[in-house]
Amino acid sequence: MKVILLGPPGAGKGTIAKALMQHDGSVQISTGDILRAAIAAGTTLGKQVEAAMAAGNLVTDELIMDIMEQRLQEEDCQQGYLLDGFPRTIPQAEALKALLAKLGETLDCVLELDIPRDVIVDRLTTRRTCNNCGEIYNIKSKPPRVEGVCDVCGSDIVQRDDETEEAIENRLQVYNQQTAPLVDFYRNDGLLVSVPSSDIEPVMQAIQQRL
Ligand code: AMP
Repeated sequence: MKVILLGPPGAGKGTIAKALMQHDGSVQISTGDILRAAIAAGTTLGKQVEAAMAAGNLVTDELIMDIMEQRLQEEDCQQGYLLDGFPRTIPQAEALKALLAKLGETLDCVLELDIPRDVIVDRLTTRRTCNNCGEIYNIKSKPPRVEGVCDVCGSDIVQRDDETEEAIENRLQVYNQQTAPLVDFYRNDGLLVSVPSSDIEPVMQAIQQRL
């Protein structure tokens, strides 16, 4: 299964990706997670992207395509992948199309999670993330067993720099301006499946119908 998960920050792309992964062995590839790991490790890439990410801006298409061109050719991608947070601009979508053509691969579908803005803002301001393994919590709907401590690995749970109200506002604007045009791009390609929910069940049904 080769699927793109499309939707604004907080739409539930990561949660859906994890559920789909358990279903059929595809890997989740989150460009945001890759970049956060680079920042945590203090690599050159991490230093290049840190400021843009903290402000909620996109990093350059060139950097993202360098990462993804390599990542999509790794061994674990043979079984399929769920792209979470990529592509995010029309140039990235065009570059991905060219890359897949070169590799002789095709996408199965682009799942658009279509969620009301107030739900997203509420979700993002209450979201917390493990700073080690990336497990996602929500202080209202999915708190950890022990406050501030990850259930999975025991590390600290933190609020991401880009989940302050100001950064969230910017990320939503960036989404509307730069990423939302991908909905029409993939509709024109006949790949778009829109699901007006981020609950697991309707999304699984939509994807099963599509496949
Ligand atoms: P995410 O975890 O997907 O919300 O991504 C967090 C941040 O990483 C974004 O706000 C961007 O700064 C950066 N980022 C992740 N994926 C991309 C991408 N495909 N293109 C540009 N920037 C990205």
